[in-house]
Amino acid sequence: MTTRYIFITGGVVSSLGKGIAAASLGAILESRGLKVSLLKLDPYLNLDPGTMSPYQHGEVFVTEDGAETDLDLGHYERFVRAKMTRNNNFTAGQIYARVLRKERRGDYLGGTVQVIPHVTDEIKQAIVKGADDADIALVEIGGTVGDMESLPFLEAIRQLRIELGNQQTLFIHLTWVPYIGTAGEIKTKPTQHSTKELGSFGIQADMLICRSEKELPEHAREKIALYTNVGAGVISLPDVDNIYRVPLLLHEQGLDEMVLKRFGLNYPPADLKAWEEVVAAQKNPTAEVKVGMVGKYMGLADSYKSLSEALIHAGIKTHTYVNIVYIDAEALEQHGTKLLEPLDAILVPGGFGKRGIDGKIMAAQYARENNVPYLGICLGMQTALIEFARHVGLKAAHSTEFDDQTPYPVVALVTEWVTPEGRREKRDKDSDLGGTMRLGGQTCCLVEGSKARTLYGKDSVIERHRHRYEVNDQLLPKLEENGLIVSGRSADGNLVEMIELKDHSWFIGCQFHPEFTSNPRDGHPLFVSFVEAARSQHAQTLHADKVIST
Ligand code: GLN
Repeated sequence: MTTRYIFITGGVVSSLGKGIAAASLGAILESRGLKVSLLKLDPYLNLDPGTMSPYQHGEVFVTEDGAETDLDLGHYERFVRAKMTRNNNFTAGQIYARVLRKERRGDYLGGTVQVIPHVTDEIKQAIVKGADDADIALVEIGGTVGDMESLPFLEAIRQLRIELGNQQTLFIHLTWVPYIGTAGEIKTKPTQHSTKELGSFGIQADMLICRSEKELPEHAREKIALYTNVGAGVISLPDVDNIYRVPLLLHEQGLDEMVLKRFGLNYPPADLKAWEEVVAAQKNPTAEVKVGMVGKYMGLADSYKSLSEALIHAGIKTHTYVNIVYIDAEALEQHGTKLLEPLDAILVPGGFGKRGIDGKIMAAQYARENNVPYLGICLGMQTALIEFARHVGLKAAHSTEFDDQTPYPVVALVTEWVTPEGRREKRDKDSDLGGTMRLGGQTCCLVEGSKARTLYGKDSVIERHRHRYEVNDQLLPKLEENGLIVSGRSADGNLVEMIELKDHSWFIGCQFHPEFTSNPRDGHPLFVSFVEAARSQHAQTLHADKVIST
């Protein structure tokens, strides 16, 4: 079957939720029986976001095949069943790197290497590869129309329209329609300008998705339609309290039907029951819990995007309103664990670097000592293990990431575990930071009788990794003697993937990132069980309060 392409560009300002709009349209089309693929094209020059600060770029999303990608791929996987791969996200940097490699190899036979056609050809090839024989590929162009760096991407999609024709390509432009409070009016001019700007690159938008605070009134739609030549294709996407409503909103306005008509495709009607259920469950929680997330990239919700979503999904599954309280690990170091007292559960997420590490260790200790449910993910598991090791007598135990002179390297690079002379090797100072991690989906075998085995309900799972350091097997016996349970191991048995504590109601650490495989329709067993534990904890504290007050 021929692949049809929907190109989604953004106008006026960034951060309008192009990724969510693309993913939501993907979800509707998938529900109609189409095979979809979603791609994100990033105009920056880094090869991938792997080495970028979460402050700059938000979270790095890891695909099953181990690519470090843009967080929009996380949205895609939360909305559609199709799985993303390293071909679903590429940057201008990757494109230029390929072109330059070819130039050095002499592939261009002495020709002058230029943006058009060499860079644009490379972009087109990458788009077709990422489309992966889907019926419809939704291709999101990062950035905002008019940015200098996204020009080659716009030129590439303009060429694809010429090559493939109207029947196989569609341009959706997502813009912003602001409300000017002092005038009491919404303004369509920025949308008109940005659609015109897109036109100046030879791309006439076929449809517009207009983001605004409230639903667009009819007169605004008509005005936009008239000035931008899109006719009936003006879709209103107002701010929503719940992003999982977006497929329903787009479908109500007939977006999927317009798309199929335009492509001359006939498919059964959309079945969005599962999304209606998700929205209904979120609207009617039967309890509220406070989950503290002890991290260090504070104030930027995007830094822990998949994690917050995974908690929300678990809330949907258990009809719980999960109130996520972001706690700065460094604030714990300064003010002590008082900040943790109101919490029903504690989550320490993944992270890199020393800043805030002591606060994270304090959070693990607090959870262990007070029997508060604890979920430690990647670094959060490592900090729990360090804390436990110190507690059972391995004083000054640490990860070599933070103290390479520690007498008890309970977490270390695999190369540091054992050396013939009992000395640990150091990482070569010149080695790369990018592309040197254990990445992507790997099998974790769950130990019979463990909590992990029970909550997953199977004896092995595939979960995604993104880390360099590992639990040091050599120092485990002392910890196991004192109540630490290794509940998950890698398929070859060599690496610790999950830990839990014997004398605790719910204390689990995992070396992998379960948040990358959670979605709103299914939830993730680990997060679901964690939120259930938070609910029990909450009920218990309520009960205790009552006892005290009577
Ligand atoms: N910094 C730790 C490591 O590299 C943990 C990484 C993470 O939490 N993703 O092993």
